[in-house]
Amino acid sequence: MFESLQDRLGSIFSGLTGRGALSDKDVAAALREIRRALIEADVALEVVRDFTDRVREKAVGVDVVKSVKPGQMVVKIVHDELVEMLGSEGETIDLNAPSPVVIMMVGLQGSGKTTTSAKIAKRLTGRDKKKVLMASLDTRRPAAQEQLRQLGEQVDVVTLPIIEGQSPSDIAKRAVQAGKLGGYDVVILDTAGRTHIDEPLMIEMADIRKHADPHEILLVADSLTGQDAVNLAKSFDERVGITGLVLTRMDGDGRGGAALSMRAVTGKPIKLIGTGERMDEMEEFHPKRIADRILGMGDIVSLVEKAAENIDQEKAAQMAKKMQEGKFDMNDLADQLHQMKKMGGMGGIMGMMPGMGKMKDQMAAAGMDDSIFNRQLAIIGSMTKHERARPDILKHSRKKRIAAGSGTNAAEINKLLKMHRQMADMMKSMKGKKGGGMMGKMMG
Ligand code: GDP
Repeated sequence: MFESLQDRLGSIFSGLTGRGALSDKDVAAALREIRRALIEADVALEVVRDFTDRVREKAVGVDVVKSVKPGQMVVKIVHDELVEMLGSEGETIDLNAPSPVVIMMVGLQGSGKTTTSAKIAKRLTGRDKKKVLMASLDTRRPAAQEQLRQLGEQVDVVTLPIIEGQSPSDIAKRAVQAGKLGGYDVVILDTAGRTHIDEPLMIEMADIRKHADPHEILLVADSLTGQDAVNLAKSFDERVGITGLVLTRMDGDGRGGAALSMRAVTGKPIKLIGTGERMDEMEEFHPKRIADRILGMGDIVSLVEKAAENIDQEKAAQMAKKMQEGKFDMNDLADQLHQMKKMGGMGGIMGMMPGMGKMKDQMAAAGMDDSIFNRQLAIIGSMTKHERARPDILKHSRKKRIAAGSGTNAAEINKLLKMHRQMADMMKSMKGKKGGGMMGKMMG
């Protein structure tokens, strides 16, 4: 999987990561190469364009991190954008619905629908301990229903008894009914395919959908068909509506164009990938793992992540120093609020620090909890530079303006000012004490 892109990106980055400095020209040249590599991997053009635009934007404005080389930074940016393009969090089959949860499998003939139905059934019964019923709604191909029955036997999953002469939607209704009566958790409906999309197929799918009310409609598409698979997904989604995709034959796909552009073009998640003919050859689609696999530079990515954490620590150390000197203005408070949000809110930070009880109480007394971090940041954001440096000049008219600008009210502003005053006082009283002050301990 993704071998062509792996090779290409590998050689682009090996020329880049070791370098101490990168000029704009270097970055532009690397971007051109990346663009070419993506196009060769059969990624949709619009996706390639978006991708390189975003990488360029970030690479230009990037925070300089000590201990990381510029080329390594670019690797990290490309990695993060790849993850984003592939669908960031990753999604899998959603069974969050009343039983039996109906999963409808759709797709062209030969895409791997029947095989995938059985693979999913096997996984749900084995790993997830679900009770699963499968039914073939393919009345066009004489052997289709028998094929699913045999696969069912192989993976030890019950299939709906075959009744000759029933229409697909009749079978669907019977399957859902049997699922209900039999106490099944999941009913998988394997529908008929065609060699290409045509009107009768779409009508049949819509009809089944109406009768079976599926919670998941998964399009099974052959990754080897590249951009055709992406266009197929668009058409199916427009006509039938799909909730996600399974890309099969990823084991034979060295380019990966369908997998790489699917999410960005269709907006639908790839939920599973088929990686072989055997019943256990199926994987969940994890964007981060895929990006790691494509770049093969996990060590650089984690190095840059660590270094980025260090930036925060450097900032915290600066803050601690300021506080020791007894300086603490609204900008500093805003920095603190940002840091706290990042570190899991107040509970997370205060809980870790010895001797923080008093401050926690004070914050609580000032009406401060995690949910109002954002409001407080909005208040500070609506102050002028001068007001932030000298909050004591805030009188009624200024407060009114800030309240309007931040969508808050005078009471909230007063609370924030009070909290700031108390914190500043506390900083002063701790001035000179050992250990870099309370915030130093807290953030360092
Ligand atoms: P259907 O017509 O959509 O139901 O397709 P089938 O399930 O009958 O699959 C067609 C062929 O593709 C079978 O020979 C499967 O073994 C094969 N196949 C399905 N998924 C994969 C996969 O992920 N990798 C490989 N290599 N073969 C697959």
